[in-house]
Amino acid sequence: MYKFEGVKTTLGCTFGLVICMFSALHFQQDWQHYAATISQLTLPILLFCAGFSAQFNRSRLALICLLWTLLFISQSYALPWSIWVKNSTSWLLLCGAITLFLMSLMQDRALFSRHLLTRLAMLGFIGLSTHFWLSSQETINSWLTNNKHTNLLAPYVTYHVPLFLIGSLLFWRSLTHKCLTRATLFSSFLLWLALQLNWLALPLDVVIVIVAFVYLLTVSIDSYFLAYRDDLTGLPTRRALNQLSLSLGRKYTVAMLDIDHFKKFNDTYGHDIGDQVLKLVASKLVKVKSGGKVFRYGGEEFTVVFPSKTSDVALDALEQLREDIANYDMVIRQQNRQSKKSRQSKPPSDRKVVNVTVSIGIASRQAKQKFEEVVKNADVALYRAKKKGRNNVSD
Ligand code: GH3
Ligand code: MG
Ligand code: MG
Repeated sequence: MYKFEGVKTTLGCTFGLVICMFSALHFQQDWQHYAATISQLTLPILLFCAGFSAQFNRSRLALICLLWTLLFISQSYALPWSIWVKNSTSWLLLCGAITLFLMSLMQDRALFSRHLLTRLAMLGFIGLSTHFWLSSQETINSWLTNNKHTNLLAPYVTYHVPLFLIGSLLFWRSLTHKCLTRATLFSSFLLWLALQLNWLALPLDVVIVIVAFVYLLTVSIDSYFLAYRDDLTGLPTRRALNQLSLSLGRKYTVAMLDIDHFKKFNDTYGHDIGDQVLKLVASKLVKVKSGGKVFRYGGEEFTVVFPSKTSDVALDALEQLREDIANYDMVIRQQNRQSKKSRQSKPPSDRKVVNVTVSIGIASRQAKQKFEEVVKNADVALYRAKKKGRNNVSD
């Protein structure tokens, strides 16, 4: 089963880029006076963007920035290959599209590592095979036209079919994973099409500046999430909790929440299923009422902060939450636990329903208390909840 986790990211990124392009077109008269400055700044902006992306380990975006740089200098300066590049629009169109697709299959690795050689070799291979593909078009077309089953396909086989396939695959990869870089690669593909097919009445340097801005934004947002979001559950981390603690007022309530007997759960079902359960519990936690903000404190412990709320209000919301989690039949996939042999002998029964409970300790801020002290009190209350037999809220 595919989960379309990346729909929002894909649409957000694509619409963001489209809006930027339309704004550039709409306000053309305003920035026209600065056209020369924009042109002069394009190269430094691109190099800065490449360096920034590499620094934050977004090597795919860094490499793409370097390719934009190569295109920009080929078109702006009289380099030995400039005329050839100018006359090779079809080659550029296909090469750019294939490169973006292959980048979406790769992982971000340090830019200056042995992987750089592999990537450069891959770019060389894309260039050569695209050249070979385009130069064999006459032969392929005549073969397709002579065959009555394929003659309808002949006019589309050079560009339409490969571009449609690449676009669909990029779109699919972007939709099925919540990954901003993949969404950026997909929107870069759309932009590349628009640019090479002359659908955009904008100069190359303006397009590049906008693209660089989008890449910088992608790297910044990605890095923010890396620092403040937990990878497994998608919840804000303890670092984000500490950040929030600085802006809390005088009145607030903190709850510490711990999954009961989770070690035993892991021992019975395995760590992978334990991970799935953590994700499912997190998905319930975010539905907490009364304005509670949820964080993964660490391991199987979570924190809920209720800004400006007394413990009475928080208690109701947490009691409801505890009950929801205890009654939640979690459907987990057990693929990894089945041996090859049992998979062959039995029909695949990889779905299982499990339940977990949580214990919760809460504490409200008292006069002159620091955030750490409130957390400590909530922790003590949690210990009491465990002592009372677990699956309860204690204050
Ligand atoms: P208690 O009811 O007293 O809280 O018992 P417990 O077993 O939940 O508590 P304990 O602190 O002994 O064990 C916590 C377990 O949580 C140990 C560890 O294997 C598991 N755990 C912590 N982080 C993760 C994680 O990210 N994934 C998985 N699968 N397990 C985790
Ligand atoms: Mg614990
Ligand atoms: Mg526990």
